Amino acid sequence: MANGAQPTFSIVVPVYNERESLPELYRRIRAVMEQLGEPWELVLVDDGSTDGSTDLIRRLRDQDPEHVRAVILARNFGHQIAVTAGIDYARGKAIVLMDADLQDPPEVIPQLVEKWREGYHVVYAVRKAREGETWFKKTTAALFYRLIRRITEVDIPPDTGDFRLMDRRVVDVLKGMKERHRFIRGMVAWVGFRQTGVPYVRAPRFAGETKYPLRKMLKFAWDAITGFSYVPLQMATYLGFLAAGMAILAIPLVVIARLAGSQAFYGQATTLIAVLFLGGVQLISLGILGEYIGRIYDEVKARPLYVVAEAPSQEDEHAERPASTP
Ligand code: UDP
Ligand code: MG
Repeated sequence: MANGAQPTFSIVVPVYNERESLPELYRRIRAVMEQLGEPWELVLVDDGSTDGSTDLIRRLRDQDPEHVRAVILARNFGHQIAVTAGIDYARGKAIVLMDADLQDPPEVIPQLVEKWREGYHVVYAVRKAREGETWFKKTTAALFYRLIRRITEVDIPPDTGDFRLMDRRVVDVLKGMKERHRFIRGMVAWVGFRQTGVPYVRAPRFAGETKYPLRKMLKFAWDAITGFSYVPLQMATYLGFLAAGMAILAIPLVVIARLAGSQAFYGQATTLIAVLFLGGVQLISLGILGEYIGRIYDEVKARPLYVVAEAPSQEDEHAERPASTP
């Protein structure tokens, strides 16, 4: 492939302290890509590694400048941002995202490519089994995917990580989504087009430790929820209606009890009801503020309003168009 020509495939891999996996990763990707027989590139994004991965990436690039492109970030920005940087530098017609630790086997790529050739724009790899991961990781991940599915409006496929192939059209839309807290698999689902899944077995880590400690996992889950759902903002409203509703129901009950001569709640009933009712009203007001903040948040994210898959060409439209179109 002459330098500068568009490769068919880009493999984007974020790397954070993966020194032991890198040579094997490169070897296996190369073997798989040579078989596909089309021009390809491997975009290695160094996310502020401190274990010497950075130099290793430079060395791979110098050894195989035809295929390897190195994007070296100035510090550790986090997995999702590293992937974003890689996507920005990838030039392929189809772009594959995968992890550096070989948990996503490169040997699955031809299956993803096959679906792409059938006309799918996004082919995500669905983990039908996960090997070598802790019980805790598997359970929290399963819970997380189910929760996300319930409280968000986009259809995010469960049990899929970032391992996926995306057509250039999808990538171009993704590049226009400039939100800072990024949950890439949600964003890809949001874009739409024809999407499908291919099952695979997630392998154990080739070497090293997970780079996703609980702290990063929680931040990731929180970005996913807040990026795609207002439910946390709306909680105040639900709680408010619950509290105020209880107060309103309590009023006739207390009146009836009193008229019937009961001594229960004697003296406290008015206070209790007033507190409950006012608390409810306050929560509802907070919830209303939350709704508006949610909308401001949407505007600030400035996602495109829609993504067009097919439309008449501009000439078919009204003859009189603003002077800007020739
Ligand atoms: N990673 C990264 N920056 C980070 C954390 C992770 O680029 O701050 C990369 C890491 O090198 C790997 C991928 O993201 O290629 C997934 O990380 P990991 O395998 O540790 O996550 P897990 O598979 O345990 O969820
Ligand atoms: Mg991993």
